[in-house]
Amino acid sequence: MKLTSYGAAREVTGSNHVLEINGKKIAIDCGMFQGHRIESERKNQNFLYDPSTIDAVILTHAHCDHCGRLPMLCGNGFHGNIYSTPASRDIAGLIMSDTAHIMQKDAEWLRKKRPDHPFKPLYGVDEVLKTLDQFMTISYGRSFPVIDGVTCTFYDAGHILGSAIAVLDLENGERIAFSGDLGRAGLPIIRDPEVIGDVDYMVCEGTYGNRLHDPIEDAENQMAEVIKKTAERGGKIIIPAFAVERTQELIYFLHKLTNEEKIPKLEIFVDSPMATNATSIFRVHQECYDEKVREHFLEAHKNPFGFDSLHFTTSVADSKAINKLKEPHIIISSSGMCEAGRILHHLKNNIEDAKNTILIVGFMAAHTLGRRLAERKPEVKIFGQIYKLNAQVKIMNAFSAHADYNEILDYVGKLNKERLKKIFLVHGEDDALNSLSKLLLEAGIKDVQIVDPATDYELT
Ligand SMILES: [Zn+2]
Repeated sequence: MKLTSYGAAREVTGSNHVLEINGKKIAIDCGMFQGHRIESERKNQNFLYDPSTIDAVILTHAHCDHCGRLPMLCGNGFHGNIYSTPASRDIAGLIMSDTAHIMQKDAEWLRKKRPDHPFKPLYGVDEVLKTLDQFMTISYGRSFPVIDGVTCTFYDAGHILGSAIAVLDLENGERIAFSGDLGRAGLPIIRDPEVIGDVDYMVCEGTYGNRLHDPIEDAENQMAEVIKKTAERGGKIIIPAFAVERTQELIYFLHKLTNEEKIPKLEIFVDSPMATNATSIFRVHQECYDEKVREHFLEAHKNPFGFDSLHFTTSVADSKAINKLKEPHIIISSSGMCEAGRILHHLKNNIEDAKNTILIVGFMAAHTLGRRLAERKPEVKIFGQIYKLNAQVKIMNAFSAHADYNEILDYVGKLNKERLKKIFLVHGEDDALNSLSKLLLEAGIKDVQIVDPATDYELT
C-alpha cells in the first residue's frame, strides 16, 4: 500500500491524496490550489498523474480546496465513482458551479483588458454537471465498497455540513483514516467530530498545528453585545461572511438570540445569491444537524434558517433598497474577504458613519480589503475610490471551522495509541506541521511523518 500526496502537502490548498492498493488507485479529494495567482494557475492546470488511472474518488467535504478540481479529473479520463455524503454532493455542486462562473467572468474581464490574454477557465458549467453524474452518495456510518477488498465508512468530521472523516478498511484487517479537515467541538448547527474506531494509520490535517482559537462558546454572547451596542447608537451592522457555513451559522445564532430576546428585533438581510442557495441546502439536510438545532427548532417545527425578520435578497433592486433603510439593521453579505460581490456596495455606503459596525467573523488573507478593515487602516479603497474608515470594526476569532492544536491533540488522544502505527501530517504550512509533529510525539504517538509533495510513502 502506497500513499502519495499531490496537493495539501506542506501547504493548505489543493488537497489530493492517492492511495495505491493491489494495483488500484483511490484518490481522496481533488481540490483547487489557491493563493498566489500564477503559481496556483500552473498547479491547477496539470495533474502529476494520469487521471484515467484512478479507480475511485472519496470526497471528504465540499470546500473548493477539496473538490474544486474534480471536473478536471473527470474531463481528463477519470470515469469512476466519486463517493461523498449527500450534503457534500449538494454543496460541491454549488461550489464547483460558482467556481466555473468566477473563472468565466475572470476570462471575460482579462480579455477586455487584453484581447489575446491567455487565461482560460479550467472548466465550465457543462463539466460540472457531468462531474455531478459521477457522484454516489452515502450517509454517515454506512460502510460501502470502494474497490475490490477495500470498504469505506464516513464519520462526521464536524467541519462543515456533510464533512466526513473517511475510514478505509482493508482485507488484511488494517484501517487507515483520512481526517479531511478536522472540525471543532461545539460549532453551531453541525455535530462534533465523531470518534472513530481504532486505526493503524491516520492522514491528519494540521492547518492550525501551532495556533489556538477563542472558544466557540464565546461567539454567541460577543455577537449579542456588538449588535446591542450598535443598535443603541442607531447604527447598522455589516458582516462580510463566506456563503457556505459561516452565513448559516450567523443566521442560526441571530435566530436564537432574537427568539431569546437577547438582541433587539432588527431586520436582517442575507444579501448574496450564493448564500441564499447554500442556505436552501442546509435546510434540507436535517440529518447533519446536532442536538441543539433539534432542541431549539425542529421539535417546535421551526425552520432554523427562516424567521420573521430575516430576508434573503436575490435581485439587485432589492439589494439596493436595503440602503434606503434608516433604522438599525444587520446585513450579511459575501464575499467573505470583501474582494468582490455585494458586500462592497454595503461597505461603501456605510463605512464612513461612526455609528455603524463592521463585524469580522472569518479569516482575512493578506492583501484583501477584509484584511485592511481588520487592521483598521484609516482609509481604504473601494471601487477605486478612497473612503474613511469611521465605522467601528469588531473582530471575532471564535468561529474557525478547523481544530486548533489542542483540539487535534484531544481528537488523536482518543485513538488507540497501541494500535496506531503512524500519523501522516498534511494540509498545513511548515511551521504549523513542525510544531504539531513535536506535540504529537510528546503526547506518545510512535511515528509522525510530515508528508512531502509527490513523494511515495509505503504503508505496512
Ligand atoms: Zn475545509
